[in-house]
Amino acid sequence: MSTDTNYEYRTGLGTDIHRLVEGRPLKLGGMTVPFEKGLLAHSDGDVALHALMDAIIGAAGLGDIGMLFPDSDPQFKNIDSKVLVLKVKEYIAEKKWEVVNADIIITAEEPKLGPYKAQMKRAIASLLGIDFLNVNVKAKTNEGLGETGTGLAISAIANVLLRRRIKRSL
Ligand code: MG
Repeated sequence: MSTDTNYEYRTGLGTDIHRLVEGRPLKLGGMTVPFEKGLLAHSDGDVALHALMDAIIGAAGLGDIGMLFPDSDPQFKNIDSKVLVLKVKEYIAEKKWEVVNADIIITAEEPKLGPYKAQMKRAIASLLGIDFLNVNVKAKTNEGLGETGTGLAISAIANVLLRRRIKRSL
């Protein structure tokens, strides 16, 4: 018998976008990327982690990131998004969910993110407590089009798979 039959699975999808502004560090994918601008947000603006959290929260059926961490709440001002990911991991663990894998796409015209993908993968895998090989980070441009393509913003999309053991009563 396949061990798959012992688990139930849920997928989740998340997106996020934040405006690039002067005078803030660029927090992205759980690390600081060297760049002259950063992402404007109530928190540290890490769009990759925000998309990831929304995907996880969605897969677990817990609503969305704004419900768990309202941007009207001063305790989340400039908060390190890594702390929020750890909280999300705790929330889903209460429901016995664990992350199987995550696939994240970051869209940015600048800076070029290729050199940082491996470090982001490591940072995210470490936060989620899963193997490095189960986290994928893709970086692309928007071909000069729209807010991301003209460098006004950076956006991200994330897809995750969760699983939890099914209790069987035979
Ligand atoms: Mg956000």
